[in-house]
Amino acid sequence: MIIVFDFDETLVFNSYNPRSALEVFSVSYGGGLTETFILRPYTRRVLSAVRRICKGLFLGTCSTRARTNRLLEVLGLEKHFDRVFTRENFDPVFRGSGDATSFPLDDFLMVDDRDTSSPLIQAKMKFFGVEGSQDQLVKHLVSVPKFDGSDGDRALLLALDDIQSRLAHGHVS
Ligand SMILES: [Mg+2]
Repeated sequence: MIIVFDFDETLVFNSYNPRSALEVFSVSYGGGLTETFILRPYTRRVLSAVRRICKGLFLGTCSTRARTNRLLEVLGLEKHFDRVFTRENFDPVFRGSGDATSFPLDDFLMVDDRDTSSPLIQAKMKFFGVEGSQDQLVKHLVSVPKFDGSDGDRALLLALDDIQSRLAHGHVS
């Protein structure tokens, strides 16, 4: 199975909370532009666990390639992902390579804070070859609530349970 994690508000919250006990990171891009992030609890543990049970672990984000690469480097998350797909891959305006469209449909799950009515989700799904009704899209989505920086967030552990149970039950189709 191929599993694609979203980035913003699925794995990180773009904010700074000085009282947070969680991992907070600052990223500078030059020109005085800085972003601060809180890493969602259990991110590293869940990505490591997913990696052991899936064929491919990808990041799929509608953010830009430059920002995504920089954030992954600062967070130390690059090693978890076999491939990273960004806005340049998903947006038809940028898209040219089309190098990820041949994955078997029954073997694909996306973990994302948006639901299937979102055009961003639909664009990502389409890129991976999944199109059709909401019912069909939902089969390929592991929904997680938006991460808001809370210390007690356990959503990724629940997502891991969901992924494991779908694998155990012959998955989505
Ligand atoms: Mg998101």
